Amino acid sequence: MKIILLGPPAAGKGTQSAYLSKYYDIPAISTGSIIRNNISEGTELGTKAKVYIDEGKLVPDELVMDLVAKRIAQPDCKNGYILDGFPRTVAQAEAMEKLGINVDKIVELVLPDEEIVDRISGRRNCSECGAIYHTKDHPSKAGDRCDKCGGKLVQRADDTEETIKKRLEVYHEKTQPLGNYYAAKGNLVQIDSSGLLEDTSAAVRKAFGVE
Ligand code: AMP
Repeated sequence: MKIILLGPPAAGKGTQSAYLSKYYDIPAISTGSIIRNNISEGTELGTKAKVYIDEGKLVPDELVMDLVAKRIAQPDCKNGYILDGFPRTVAQAEAMEKLGINVDKIVELVLPDEEIVDRISGRRNCSECGAIYHTKDHPSKAGDRCDKCGGKLVQRADDTEETIKKRLEVYHEKTQPLGNYYAAKGNLVQIDSSGLLEDTSAAVRKAFGVE
């Protein structure tokens, strides 16, 4: 099972891909988190990507294509994977097809801009296991610690108000057209993710035929 999860920042792609990863026992591949790991490890890719991430811009296609090609060649991807945050441009989608990567299901989570800003500013991530919380909508019971592993909850460096504006601009200009690109091919499922988390999760389960 190969899945693409599309949608604006904070639409819930990370949360839904964690669920699907468990359900299908396939890895959830987030290009954003691979890039952030490279930045914290100070790799060459991380150093190159940091300038773009810090400004809320997209990392150049060739860097991302290279990291995705390497990641999906790993043995744990043999039964499939979930792509979260990739492709992010029509050029990446086309490059993916040229590499012969075909997917079974493409789901787009849809969320209006005002909600995106609210969700991003309240988003907190576990620095250890990556679990996602929200200060109002989904707070950790343990305050500033993760309920699952006890790791410290932190705010992503690119989740600031100024960077959010740029990320939204970039999303509308470069990523949103992917919805039409895949809809025209006839294999896109759109899900409204503006409601409660359990409603979005139920709609995702339905899209995958999970009872
Ligand atoms: P995310 O964690 O998906 O919100 O991604 C965080 C940041 O990583 C984005 O704002 C981009 O700078 C970069 N990034 C992640 N995935 C991609 C991609 N497929 N293409 C280009 N840049 C990406």
